[in-house]
Amino acid sequence: MTSDPSETAHLIGGVGCEHWNSRLDVVAIRFHCCGRTYPCLHCHDEASDHPVTPWPTDTSDDLAVDAVMCRCCGTWLSVGEYLSLYAGSAQHPERPACPHCAAPFNPGCARHTHLYFQV
Ligand SMILES: [Zn+2]
Ligand SMILES: [Zn+2]
Ligand SMILES: [Zn+2]
Repeated sequence: MTSDPSETAHLIGGVGCEHWNSRLDVVAIRFHCCGRTYPCLHCHDEASDHPVTPWPTDTSDDLAVDAVMCRCCGTWLSVGEYLSLYAGSAQHPERPACPHCAAPFNPGCARHTHLYFQV
């Protein structure tokens, strides 16, 4: 289950947005509230007239939903895959990266996880 490709094609290969502009800001989030995909929460809010609701994370079905896209390679990560990158496991201590193309993700995103996911 992914977004309409025509909506996300322009995000692939890009970095950041007008709110976040580090080279590490290479993910886009598909939002639980409306199913649309934006580089960040603020991009969502400027384009939408409703509040963001975080993705549920209670069940294995919840964790299997594709909700994060790596903009370097266009691969979708499930909720569970994305959260595990930031779980501080032995393999990725503080160095989250795309499991498919190895593009480094912004470690600072861990501070905002609760805005996007019920953690
Ligand atoms: Zn929304
Ligand atoms: Zn933004
Ligand atoms: Zn990637």
